[in-house]
Amino acid sequence: MKPIIFDKSDGQQLRINMISPWLKHHYAELGLDSPAKIVKLSLDGGFTCPNRDGNKGTGGCLFCSESGSGDMASAADDIRQALDSQIRLLSDKWPSEKYNVKYLAYFQSHTNTYAPVEELRAKFEAALKASDVVGIAIATRPDCIPKDVLDLLSELNEKTFLWVELGLQTIHDETARAMNLCHSRADYDDAVRRLTGRGIRVVTHLILGLPGESREMMLDSVRYACRDIGTDDGAGGGSGFSSGFSFCPGSGSDGVRRIFGLKLHMLNVVRGSGMAAAMPDYVPFDSMEEYIDLLISALEIVPPEITLHRISGDAPRATLIAPEWSYKKRTILNNIHKEMRRRDTWQGRLAGK
Ligand code: SF4
Repeated sequence: MKPIIFDKSDGQQLRINMISPWLKHHYAELGLDSPAKIVKLSLDGGFTCPNRDGNKGTGGCLFCSESGSGDMASAADDIRQALDSQIRLLSDKWPSEKYNVKYLAYFQSHTNTYAPVEELRAKFEAALKASDVVGIAIATRPDCIPKDVLDLLSELNEKTFLWVELGLQTIHDETARAMNLCHSRADYDDAVRRLTGRGIRVVTHLILGLPGESREMMLDSVRYACRDIGTDDGAGGGSGFSSGFSFCPGSGSDGVRRIFGLKLHMLNVVRGSGMAAAMPDYVPFDSMEEYIDLLISALEIVPPEITLHRISGDAPRATLIAPEWSYKKRTILNNIHKEMRRRDTWQGRLAGK
């Protein structure tokens, strides 16, 4: 059996359904000027986090960096300024004279639904009004989507391309407690049901390498996040799948409803985090090979229609403590692809087995 993921643009067979080529195909199919590159602009929208201000907890999740897990994000009170600053930062890599670049505004730092709904509306709409911004991604906690915010997200989803990122990290509540997440698997289940019930794409974050978790526990989290969510919308009268796009979000090719995407983070212990203080000697993986072996096993059980948004860590080298090789992102990615070719395996090869 051959890998079933196929990049139509250059005829290469891909073994992982990465979000970048998916977006390129998606926007080409919509006829939006056939953009050559869709770039995510990481933004700090000036929000805080209920797990830091005492509303849900204090001190934050143990692995969280001082920037609220948004180390690459541009901060500015004015969203348009933040977008311009990110575009300038990325213009060397993706010069507009060479590439037809379009942008997704990515609200990354802290909890991006933790504010009065009118403040959220103003910030999200400001981002969407910027030229060449063709969609929006919003990262948040699963326990931070009240009804009025869900209504706003649903409204945006009718008008533009949207996904919402939920930080699940693990399905094991004992790990969640040890990591001071101050939310549970039940919170995540509820958020996924309500978001997908409104036709909103969900991208789930999981962390590989959390203390106390075995390989099987991590694979169980992956399996759980990728499962068929069912058909009970539980969304309090959602409007169904969004219009304007031919893609049916969260709906798999086998007719079941799933999350749209998955982010598999390698745990990075970073300076200034609770983890660096509480477990200064903890090293998530003994070697890059150990991480790659686990990652490939995880990819094999992820259904092929689920997009992958990250398969490594992303901590800046300056703040990284462990694993010390984690900043070598290009090497890690190259080795993952090399090892998948050597094993002749691909995303979804063992899904549902
Ligand atoms: S990881 Fe997210 S939820 Fe946890 S403390 Fe950081 S910003 Fe808050």
